[in-house]
Amino acid sequence: MKSAIEVRPGKKIRLKSISTSDDAGLGNKEKARERLDKDLERLRDLQHLLYADGRYALLVVLQAMDSGGKDGTIRHVMSGFNPAGCVVSSFKAPTETELKHDFLWRIHQAVPGKGMIGVFNRSHYEDVLVVRVHDLVPKKVWSERYWQINEFERILTENGVIILKFFLHISKAEQARRLKARIVDKTKNWKFSVADLKERKYWGAYQEAFEDAINECSTEWAPWTVVPADKKWARDCIVARAVRHDA
Ligand code: AMP
Ligand code: MG
Repeated sequence: MKSAIEVRPGKKIRLKSISTSDDAGLGNKEKARERLDKDLERLRDLQHLLYADGRYALLVVLQAMDSGGKDGTIRHVMSGFNPAGCVVSSFKAPTETELKHDFLWRIHQAVPGKGMIGVFNRSHYEDVLVVRVHDLVPKKVWSERYWQINEFERILTENGVIILKFFLHISKAEQARRLKARIVDKTKNWKFSVADLKERKYWGAYQEAFEDAINECSTEWAPWTVVPADKKWARDCIVARAVRHDA
């Protein structure tokens, strides 16, 4: 089983052969916490530089199966940033107006400006994920979107947007545990949605759609990183380190 990987263009990954529970050699929660704190401190410095320099923007895209940990990652990693320079955008089912435009219309408006950090909680990738799994548009339409996304991301990159895309990779058993916890734990009830149980039935179709999205849209300019995300503390650490990019 492979641990966290940045997917190289042209290399095809299989999600089944990438671990969901690898801890990147961190060992335990305490060690992970220590490293995360240091990385968050460094990220705050880097954010200052990004802002002062004013030539680039950073866009972090988070995608996952339901209960995969997008919100938790935002809480624990993106919370390290100065909120004045960081905007989180959550993409839900498109509104009537949004549906009247091309699928990238609402996305483009949320792209961070120079000096800023943008975090996407779901993204344009939903248009080749949920849309594909539920046949919301014909295959002829969604299958053209991979290259459209690549070109869109290329335009952004050539205009100063640094794009990092993370797939938080959980196992089906871990999703079951998390959904169950949302039902039995009163403090987590608010997170529970019947829709998530329905979507779980499409696990296989979603995994396939994710695999294709990751394989088709891992480019030199906007790579995907597959993050083992069953262990929340390891997930946070891996994402923080990848954003820091050893800078
Ligand atoms: P949540 O993230 O739990 O608030 O749920 C947001 C919902 O919006 C999910 O069920 C997504 O599948 C759905 N969604 C996001 N983007 C799209 C899209 N482009 N088309 C259809 N549904 C979407
Ligand atoms: Mg949900």
